[in-house]
Amino acid sequence: MGNEITGATGLTCLLGHPVAHSISPQMHNEAFRLLGLDYRYLAFDVTPETLEHAFTGLKALHVLGFNLTMPLKTAILPYLDDLTPTARLSNSVNTVYRDGERYIGHMTDGIGYMRSVTDAGFSIIGKKMTLLGAGGAATAILVQAALDGVKEIYVCKRKNASWDKTLALIEQINRETSCNVSLHDIEDSSELTRCISNSDILTNATNVGMAPDIESCPVSPDMLFPELIVSDIIYNPRETKLIQYAKEIGCPTFNGLYMLLYQGAASFQCWTGMEMPITPIKEKYFSIK
Ligand code: NAP
Repeated sequence: MGNEITGATGLTCLLGHPVAHSISPQMHNEAFRLLGLDYRYLAFDVTPETLEHAFTGLKALHVLGFNLTMPLKTAILPYLDDLTPTARLSNSVNTVYRDGERYIGHMTDGIGYMRSVTDAGFSIIGKKMTLLGAGGAATAILVQAALDGVKEIYVCKRKNASWDKTLALIEQINRETSCNVSLHDIEDSSELTRCISNSDILTNATNVGMAPDIESCPVSPDMLFPELIVSDIIYNPRETKLIQYAKEIGCPTFNGLYMLLYQGAASFQCWTGMEMPITPIKEKYFSIK
């Protein structure tokens, strides 16, 4: 495939609001180019109010599939023909792919996180995790980690309006997987300390520490210990306060940059059946520094 768009060029895309900042078009178009696939990936600004029309149009155009970002990850659910187990449990979709005439919803954020763990050189299957937060990204990680075989997960979140919803999800995961998941109050420091001290890995999936609030940290540094793997799914900044404290203590650490890469790679594979060429994409768009 040259650089020309032809009469046969296929379309994939991102729907969301806003989308102009997204790195996904560069990542996917470069992967299509490297593999010689005659597809293009565009980003379209779509709101929940215009989603139904956008989806009807994409279906009529017979697109290969597309990604969804905020605020459309749950708004898409009523329009899909089926969901993968990950999407059903997460109640959220970031990837849609065509299977014959049917459009299937999938969630690759958790897959992206689990691949980023492996990429960082760790195996957490059969191990214990403290997961901070229970929002969209945390839920995707929780579901995928439970499906993949993490043994025990301590979900720590605020005791607010979404507590009962998280509890219901946890009960469902405990019924449907062999993982043992429990819910804890992130604002109870002795409970949080107990969870972390019993864990092999700590995963921050809250917004705490994300730019511009870069001085915030979701845990106290004295809760960390050198054997604990500390990961933060935030990638802006590359090094959050949590990662800085963890490094000072001697913990192995990694940030959210490769979760972003691998969630995209998993979407790419759904659409093309091919592995995204990770190494050149990493070098070009996912510089660690
Ligand atoms: P979200 O659905 O809004 O969830 C935010 C979570 O943060 C909620 O669980 C919320 O807790 C928690 N939280 C917010 N402020 C808090 C505070 N002061 N103390 C304790 N908990 C607090 O957002 P999201 O989409 O899951 O995103 C969360 C973070 O992950 C963001 O920083 C985002 O950039 C990052 N992210 C990274 C990737 C990646 O590929 N690396 C992908 C998606 C998201 P409550 O449940 O108690 O309200």
